[in-house]
Amino acid sequence: MTTDNLTLQEALKKYFGFDKFKGTQEKVIQSVLDGQDTFVIMPTGGGKSLCYQLPALILDGTAIVISPLIALMKNQVDSIRSHAESDKIAHFLNSSLTRTQAKAVKSDIIAGHTKLLYVAPETLTKADNLEFFASTNISFVAIDEAHCISEWGHDFRPEYRRIRSMIEAINKNIPLIALTATATPKVRVDIVKTLRMEKPSEFLSSFNRDNLYYEIRPKGKKDDVLKSIVQVVKKMDGKSGIIYVQSRKSTEEIAKLLRVNDIKAAPYHAGLDAKVRNNTQDDFLMENVDVIVATIAFGMGIDKPDVRFVIHYDIPKSIENYYQETGRAGRDGLEGRCIAFYSYKDILKLEKFLRDKPVAEREMGNQLLSEMIGYAETTACRRRFLLHYFGETYDDTHCHEHKMCDNCRYPKQQIEGKNDVKLILEAVDQLHENCHIKEIVDFILGNQTKSIQDFKYNKLSLFGKGKDQSAHYWNSIIRQALLNDLLRKDIEQYGIIKLPDAGRAFVANPVSFMISLNHDFVQEEAEAVAAVAQAANTSVLDRTLFKLLLDIRKDVAERKNVPPFIVFQEPSLEEMATRYPLSVDEMKAISGVSEGKARRYGSEFIKAIKQYVDENDIERPMDFVMKSVAKKSKNKVTIIQSIDRKIPLEDIADSAGLSMEDLMHELYMIVNSGTKININYYLEEMVDEGVQEDIIDYFMEAENDSLDLAFKELEEDDIALEEIELIRLKFLSDHGN
Ligand code: ADP
Ligand code: MG
Repeated sequence: MTTDNLTLQEALKKYFGFDKFKGTQEKVIQSVLDGQDTFVIMPTGGGKSLCYQLPALILDGTAIVISPLIALMKNQVDSIRSHAESDKIAHFLNSSLTRTQAKAVKSDIIAGHTKLLYVAPETLTKADNLEFFASTNISFVAIDEAHCISEWGHDFRPEYRRIRSMIEAINKNIPLIALTATATPKVRVDIVKTLRMEKPSEFLSSFNRDNLYYEIRPKGKKDDVLKSIVQVVKKMDGKSGIIYVQSRKSTEEIAKLLRVNDIKAAPYHAGLDAKVRNNTQDDFLMENVDVIVATIAFGMGIDKPDVRFVIHYDIPKSIENYYQETGRAGRDGLEGRCIAFYSYKDILKLEKFLRDKPVAEREMGNQLLSEMIGYAETTACRRRFLLHYFGETYDDTHCHEHKMCDNCRYPKQQIEGKNDVKLILEAVDQLHENCHIKEIVDFILGNQTKSIQDFKYNKLSLFGKGKDQSAHYWNSIIRQALLNDLLRKDIEQYGIIKLPDAGRAFVANPVSFMISLNHDFVQEEAEAVAAVAQAANTSVLDRTLFKLLLDIRKDVAERKNVPPFIVFQEPSLEEMATRYPLSVDEMKAISGVSEGKARRYGSEFIKAIKQYVDENDIERPMDFVMKSVAKKSKNKVTIIQSIDRKIPLEDIADSAGLSMEDLMHELYMIVNSGTKININYYLEEMVDEGVQEDIIDYFMEAENDSLDLAFKELEEDDIALEEIELIRLKFLSDHGN
């Protein structure tokens, strides 16, 4: 492969078939071709692979690509090979190869056939491999998922730390390119330092994902959470999504629950054997499965562009994890909903988990977790919070205008915080910028904790100055000051709060500072529980939808040439406008709607309800109870069977222990819900044929099936109420279904 006369763009077209570079790709590639150390931060899906693949194909020699996951290497190699004439163009070298296979790889490299070699960091720890590489022509080394180098990243791999010394053993002048999708400023520094990159050219893409909607919901009782998940998923209507949970057991449990609710779902976790996992992945890609319920084992390298939602049933243990996992939604640029359930109880669980770790790791874990809490509880724009975490300044106007996070969609009331922000900043100063958030809050509240007494902070002038307010209040103030860079958290010192110049300037010259208090999830949780209970008990008729359904009924009736009430009775429509059925099954559960009726007339109504629910963002009261299919009472079954056997109605009433009046009512209910009964055998005896026709003609034209109205209309012709009632049964039965 030579590219002597090709422009980069032509090379892109030739090797990959793409017409244009994405984002910073072209500049990155140029930098690698120039032999520069290069550092690329680009969100998931941004197209990082191409940044080293294309230069590898262009340059002389073999590029080594270090990647943490053996499982993904084969995919990467396959995808490169698919563009090339020979398989020799790309290989991987890791512990999964036999001796003979490894030898074949090496001879392809020596022969100059191989442009890209994927290795695991372990591969580079073997002395004979290092010797081999030292004797060959290596074009550059790419370090993918470079955040694995830093303990402050979300996926620390100790072997990554040794990459630099291994590279030195090969040839210390090889250019490097490091790539990652998530890196806080701290992690970035770690990467450059640990790899000892030389004045790297940095290419930083924005982490903003405009098309993702972020939402945090309070996590109440398990059943209620599961209910909301089913609701959300059902509303997505067969679209692809991922639900992340903490434990393997939950993946199985929730997947099962979704399946019971007619959602095509499958569990995924590291405990399943490789074959099952592969099949599940394939099913997801091929859309035989819509929803994957997974532990974090799922997702790395999954390139499904149209994942429409990512739900976190359990809060992740760091913002990096959260960003990475939510980042799998909406890679095609269309909307992706990211909903996480949050409860302080889960945080306590995660903290407990950290307790057994070595001190440094525990401190780090707690820091990452406290940022996650900050994110969950903030009432500021979530996008702004996320991007601030990754070191970006984001103007939240766009998010506000498009309502792309829950806080921008339902803004909390703001209050003037100028004086209290100033007070906190002064407190930080008075405490010599040497305290954590919790200590600052204790200090301002005047709590006599051990450390406050030990350090004699209780002798300082601002001690207890904020005791009129709650801890929640002061936490909110500190968070917002951090978000606005008036305070800074020193991650390397495990979260000590510092007062930067901007903060000092504010103290000297305070300006209006509107804040909204953090979410109080203990309270919101209680409210959520109450709301669910209320929705279950009192369901409210949606009059707008009801009117809409009346119109549809009129249309349908005209088209089918039957009176509207034959389609559905009004009480059924009312119930639909209360419970929002979205499938034939749910339709069936509406009283007065039989399976046949649901199938015959239901679809138009379901379609309209669905659209209405979507457009108006309706939270449906109950999804679970919908599962139960309306049961016919034992009495009803006996009555229907007796009619099949042509038993006179009086006798049926007798043996069922019903009055004739009650039996007629039962029969009315039966036909009204769409069950056909044939009472001709009885009518023949009881009602003159001409009279039968008169009554049927009347109902064909009638507004509704009221007996009283019919009687008023027909009594002049000397037709009896009993006759009308009987023929009405026949009419409803014949036309209703
Ligand atoms: P990352 O590693 O940054 O998450 P990938 O390298 O896996 O992203 O690329 C994501 C997707 O974008 C892949 O499907 C890839 O084929 C596609 N892609 C990369 N570069 C381009 C381009 N210039 N034009 C169109 N698609 C591209
Ligand atoms: Mg990648």
